[in-house]
Amino acid sequence: MRLDLTGAAARVAARLPEYLRDLDSLASIDSGTYDKVGVDQVASMLSDRYDRLGARVSRHRHDVLGDTIVAELGASGPVTLLLGHTDTVYPAGTAAMRPMRREGDLLFGPGTADMKAGDLAIVYALEDLVALDANLGRVIVIHNSDEEIGSPSSRGLIRQMAETADAVLVLEPGRENGNIVAARKGIARVDITVRGVAAHAGVNHNRGRSAILELAYLVTRLEALNGIMPDVTLNVGVIQGGERVNVVPDHASAEMEIRALEPESLQHAVELVRETVAWRTIAQTNAEADVRIEHWPMHRTAATNQLVVLAQGLGADLGLSITAVATGGASDGNTAAQAGKPVLDGLGPVGGNAHSPDEYIDVTSVAPRVALLEGLVEAIASGSVTRH
Ligand SMILES: [Zn+2]
Repeated sequence: MRLDLTGAAARVAARLPEYLRDLDSLASIDSGTYDKVGVDQVASMLSDRYDRLGARVSRHRHDVLGDTIVAELGASGPVTLLLGHTDTVYPAGTAAMRPMRREGDLLFGPGTADMKAGDLAIVYALEDLVALDANLGRVIVIHNSDEEIGSPSSRGLIRQMAETADAVLVLEPGRENGNIVAARKGIARVDITVRGVAAHAGVNHNRGRSAILELAYLVTRLEALNGIMPDVTLNVGVIQGGERVNVVPDHASAEMEIRALEPESLQHAVELVRETVAWRTIAQTNAEADVRIEHWPMHRTAATNQLVVLAQGLGADLGLSITAVATGGASDGNTAAQAGKPVLDGLGPVGGNAHSPDEYIDVTSVAPRVALLEGLVEAIASGSVTRH
């Protein structure tokens, strides 16, 4: 049975007042990442909905950060993993200071677009599919608590669940123009430490070996790597060094990041950075690089393109023209992509100005986006995506 998407959109549209009340309840809870009480409260509200739906719900408790909830529906068939996060970037008191308000079709409020509207979109889509007794295959939903700080407590779980999935759908907000996201850059963080030789700047200047000067040469060579690969950017964002103006400095340090769309490019750029850091301009200085891959690239594979085409076809049925774009920012989609599974992101209601006082969602996008999500889940369950 192929789902009637316009029917689904009409049912969600009829429930829109209820959806907006739910969104108001969620947005009125301060749930900054370190606000465990608030984040847990959001998790409980979502978890209650999955309980009522007959899902198998588990709660992964954390002592300091918020709890992550996992809900599962269906027993067999292709597996869809749905991702949403319950934390926001806002400090306690923001919800009371800026309660949700509507201006025309736009609804403003902290954490609406990023991403309580997307969390609720998952709930509403699954409620409708279950009421229709639609084929879900197996659906796993994760609402994690710490995405805004890089998901330290939940990234292992996301990776593990992604390994079992056939497709991963992330409900971060749709772009302001309705675009969805099919690729996100990966990020490597590099901490560079340079050692030189200290000396009195007036008496023994010739005995000194300036760590700052060596770092300056190094920074120009590192920044010159920009442009070598089209999908890679490098940025030295912080430098520090020296103690006093009359001392040749014996230490300096820099923090940089490398972003790349393709895993191979990221690895190649890391190698180039290591080689560059190993190369000395001033004798008797020394430099070391500490490299960490913070986010794996969510790169656009053939399997991703299959999902994009599927979303575009379903979108056309709903009168949505969908373009899938790449972005430089990371999300939990990057972690899921590391499992080698196709990931589509930005599937939540359309919104903008995330992480700012003007954060909003476009109310008119809720019904079609929830219907699109229903269509994707049903199509994946029916075998529309090649299994890996
Ligand atoms: Zn987000």
